[in-house]
Amino acid sequence: MSNVDWQGKHVTVAGLGVSGIPAARVLHGLGAVVTVVNDGEDERSRAQAAELEAQGIAVRLGDGDTLPTSTELVVTAPGWKPGKPLFAAAAEAGVPVWGDVELAWRLRGQDGREPAPWLAVTGTNGKTTTVRMLASILEAAGLRTAAVGNIGVSLLDAVLGDEPYDVLAVELSSYQLHWAPSLRAHSAAVLNLAPDHLDWHGSMEAYAADKGRIYEGNRVACVYNAADPATEDLVREADVEEGCRAIGFTLGTPGPSQLGVVDGILVDRAFVQNRQKQAQELAEVADVNPPAPHNIANALAAAALARAYGVEPAAVRDGLRNFRPDPHRIEHVADVGGVAYVDDSKATNTHAAEASLAAYDSIVWIAGGLAKGATFDELVTGCAKRLRGVVLMGADRALIREALARHAPEVPVVDLDRTDTGAMSEAVREAAGLARPGDTVLMAPACASMDMFVNYNKRGEAFADAVRARAAESA
Ligand code: ADP
Repeated sequence: MSNVDWQGKHVTVAGLGVSGIPAARVLHGLGAVVTVVNDGEDERSRAQAAELEAQGIAVRLGDGDTLPTSTELVVTAPGWKPGKPLFAAAAEAGVPVWGDVELAWRLRGQDGREPAPWLAVTGTNGKTTTVRMLASILEAAGLRTAAVGNIGVSLLDAVLGDEPYDVLAVELSSYQLHWAPSLRAHSAAVLNLAPDHLDWHGSMEAYAADKGRIYEGNRVACVYNAADPATEDLVREADVEEGCRAIGFTLGTPGPSQLGVVDGILVDRAFVQNRQKQAQELAEVADVNPPAPHNIANALAAAALARAYGVEPAAVRDGLRNFRPDPHRIEHVADVGGVAYVDDSKATNTHAAEASLAAYDSIVWIAGGLAKGATFDELVTGCAKRLRGVVLMGADRALIREALARHAPEVPVVDLDRTDTGAMSEAVREAAGLARPGDTVLMAPACASMDMFVNYNKRGEAFADAVRARAAESA
């Protein structure tokens, strides 16, 4: 139950945006005196401000660093960097800062209903997929649930709306976790940890510590990746409820208290009567869509959380079978001339691209874009043997070209020397020229898309359009 009396409470909402506007409205509706502060001032923010002001919410545009006097609480957009002067001012004044997740967490039960427990997922890659798989499994078990957080239903809607959920599958980013000090999940998983967003967090240690917050106060299970010891370290460091268990997932044979894979079967050696001797079959590898190694890991993590909640094995299998991946995540677009074309535009960092490059034997790789400070040596070394050829485009393509020259000098590389949107159809044409029947043309850029496209969706659509045009020509 929320124990905050919002009536007349002075709350500053930091950031007009997808989380700030609903937060301001909800808090205003609860009787708080709300002021929204925003760094920028443009046409869009002026229109949004006018709408909020008409409802009685004060907005200060172009001044996101001054803490309004009499502020008792700051509710921030998750993306705001901890080093901003606004937060220093809040600390100075002894004013707490909550993110959007903390606000949703505190507002659970506001209406007097018993709040639904949260099964929470974070990690550098695979969050959305895992949360959707989890929601699909929970649904197959007949539970009222939703995939919430960064995806689907907003957290505020989920905790305040009319829908009576039994349990929620919650995706949490490292930013959101940073600003969510009192969150206590039923069970949680950290899928993997690779350097990402380090400019925001300041260091790998700080990034890992924020991810690790997801385990704080877990009641039933802390799920970690046995292949990624950093995730297990986070479990060890967490302060959890008595009786909460550490549960590993592995692509190999599971030990006691783990889920893993034996002879093409996903098995549970954690939530069984006798985990020393027994293993419970959950599903077949072929039930996972698509059955690429990293995606099997996602399925095992989702299964672990569902099992921690008490879901029966048959529902795990049915939920995985029913699950359809979101677009642009290792999406098979078409086969043309015996070559498979796969869109993994969502591979916006090297860790993600590494996973999809590991899933195919002979690849023509389309890569490049904005590197966000990444280096490519490890990625290229890991996949060099499986590369038939590479087509590069985008602003930071030279970084990949140089890594290829160092570690895979024999692999043919086509450097498109283009950063315009139209480069994609040329990339597909060049890739088709390099590919032989049985190969996979994999667009997994290992880079962000914004140098050439509005976002990764548009990049994926451009690829799929180019592939379909080729398919139509050759038909
Ligand atoms: P997120 O929500 O964390 O961004 P997604 O499920 O949307 O993750 O997947 C993003 C990309 O990360 C996918 O396109 C795929 O290339 C890669 N990926 C998915 N799961 C994993 C995993 N378990 N390990 C590494 N990479 C992964």
